[in-house]
Amino acid sequence: MKKIFVISGPSGSGKTALLKGLFRSRQIKEKFFKIPTFTTRKPRKGERNFLDYCFLTKEEFLRLKKKKFFLESKKYLEDFYGTPKDFLKKAGKKFPLLCIDVEGALKIKKKFKDKAVLVFIQPPSSKVLEVRLRKRRTEPEEILKKRLRIAKKEVKYAKKYKYRLTNQNLDKTKEELKRILLEEMKDL
Ligand code: 5GP
Repeated sequence: MKKIFVISGPSGSGKTALLKGLFRSRQIKEKFFKIPTFTTRKPRKGERNFLDYCFLTKEEFLRLKKKKFFLESKKYLEDFYGTPKDFLKKAGKKFPLLCIDVEGALKIKKKFKDKAVLVFIQPPSSKVLEVRLRKRRTEPEEILKKRLRIAKKEVKYAKKYKYRLTNQNLDKTKEELKRILLEEMKDL
């Protein structure tokens, strides 16, 4: 059984930008596969179906959920998110990398025990988080406030993770994350 890598971090922690940067590395691309999870959220600008997420309607999501297609799923704000049960198969020979929330990550940990390597990306401060979310301008104010409230709760889970990275500087954090993945990968 190979290792499963799980990255979590609150909205605005920079995890998406981080992963994008990380997957520009040939070493990472050759060995890891970022699993697109399923969501009913509308795609943001630049997001690609089946690569960033598998986008689907709420009806489709609930139908799949009923058929027990998901290993875990969650309602976040007004939308649903879920990890498909066949994610290991999707990764082929590569190591699967999931980018999911804290509850999902802990479920994966419970199921796969030591084979699940959890990395938490935290923002330098809640102020920085707010500034980043506002700069992104992807949500209306009301949703942004909700995301911020959830983010503050999520940061409390950081201590349950094997690794915690404070994302002050994107390039530096990316290098740290890359080093962790490559090290963990060798140590089976
Ligand atoms: P966003 O809308 O910002 O892309 O994602 C909202 C939150 O849902 C993030 O914390 C993201 O990591 C998480 N998420 C994405 N896919 C899944 C999933 O399949 N399961 C769970 N539990 N969380 C997910």
